[in-house]
This record gives sequence, structure tokens and C-alpha cells, in this order.
Amino acid sequence: MLALSALDIALWDLKARRAGLPLFRLLGGFDARVPCYAGGIDLDLSIDALLKQTDDNLARGFRALKMKVGRPDLGADIGRVKAMRGHLGDGFPLMADANMKWTVEEAIRAARALQPFDLTWLEEPTIPDDIAGHQRILSAGGVPIAAGENLRSLWDFKNYISAGAVSYPEPDVTNCGGVSAFMKIARLAEAFNLPVTSHGAHDITVHLLAACPNRSFLEAHGFGLDRYIEHPLVLENGMAVAPTRPGHGITFDWMGLAALVP
Ligand SMILES: [Mg+2]
Repeated sequence: MLALSALDIALWDLKARRAGLPLFRLLGGFDARVPCYAGGIDLDLSIDALLKQTDDNLARGFRALKMKVGRPDLGADIGRVKAMRGHLGDGFPLMADANMKWTVEEAIRAARALQPFDLTWLEEPTIPDDIAGHQRILSAGGVPIAAGENLRSLWDFKNYISAGAVSYPEPDVTNCGGVSAFMKIARLAEAFNLPVTSHGAHDITVHLLAACPNRSFLEAHGFGLDRYIEHPLVLENGMAVAPTRPGHGITFDWMGLAALVP
């Protein structure tokens, strides 16, 4: 599915370039400006380092943030989220990502404990195989749930969405089947009155969410390609802006890539 995703992305890029259109326009367009958050890879940071990372992200222009949870001690997670909420203030969009760390019961307990901190969503609370578990966490935990970076097809998302197991479907264009599958997943979410968000590959995904009326936040992933491409993602007032270059508009910086070769 990863290989198919890459081929599908390349073919959509080719089609858009032949049409002389940026990809988001070829996909129907909606709004080139997409709400965007910085995804931190920060589970092991001290609270001081976490807040320093946060200040750096605010200085870079982000107006929404995601942090990791899933420390061995739930109390540590609560303390970190509480510190972040206190630092950012009420109303600032803050998400938390558990990367499948918990059992269903642990996730329900964590979600209930995190309720006072007004998370936009809690992400991947448990293994992606457990659809009924996600449904229980969502209904019993009382916090919106994001999931999907480890689902691998339109049909996986159909099973999650139709079971009421996810609040924010979160496809990754590089592993869900490419642009074709991502857009079908986004439309499926729309038909269920759900927002769609994204995982990874933000330089391409900004086009896809820019073509979705039900788009939520674009994830600006912690593992970005900024050093290896000519035009890194542009942020304006906390919004990512889809580029107007034809196709997906990504061009490798070959000198930057050459620096990777030992
Ligand atoms: Mg995640």
C-alpha cells in the first residue's frame, strides 16, 4: 500500500502539472488556507523542555499544537498536559497523541482524567486493530478521538467511521492509498458529518485538505522534509497555505539531499 500510495501521488502530480493547476485546484479547491498544528515528538522531554519547544513553535507561527502522552505513570501525563494548558491559556487548540500506548481501560481512565484540559482530540489511544475498543474509549472517555495514521485503506476508515469509533479521521496520504484514497476518505467523513485531519507528509497534504470543506487541522509533522525541498510549507497567521505552483509543487533540493550521503 505504501508503494501504491507513492505511485498514486506521482500520477496526480503529473495530471495537475499537465493541467497547469496546483493540485488543490484540480481536486476542486475550497480554501488554500488550512488550519495547521505543530506535532511535537516530545514524550521524553522534561516539562521545561516541553514549554521551550512550545515557545519555539509559537515563534515559528504555529497557533495549534500537539504533544505526546503515554508516560508509564498517568500522573506524569496529566502534569504535562496541565502545564501546557496553563502555558497556552484557555481556548488554544491543543491535542495529545498516545501512539497506541494504552489498553482500552487505561485509555478510558486517561481520557476521563484529561477532560478538564479541553483537548481538541486524543489521538491513537490504543492499537488500530481494535475498532470496538476505540468506540468504547470515545463513548466512555468523553474526549474526541483521532485515529487513522495506521489504517491502510478506504475500507479500514469505513469500518471505523460507520462504527462511531473516531471523531477525527486522520489518513496519511503516503500509506492509505495516495491522493485517490485520501480524498475518498475525506468525502466519506463529510457524509458522516465528521471533520478530516491528516498525518505526515504535510507538503502534499496541504493540497488535499485545501480541497475539503470539512477539513480540520493539517499536521505539520515533526519529521519534515524542510532541509531537502526547495519550498518548505508556508504559514500565515497560523494557517498553512497551499502553494500555487502546478502539481503538488514539491521540488527536491538536490544539494540538501547530497548532504545525507556519507
Ligand atoms: Mg499520531
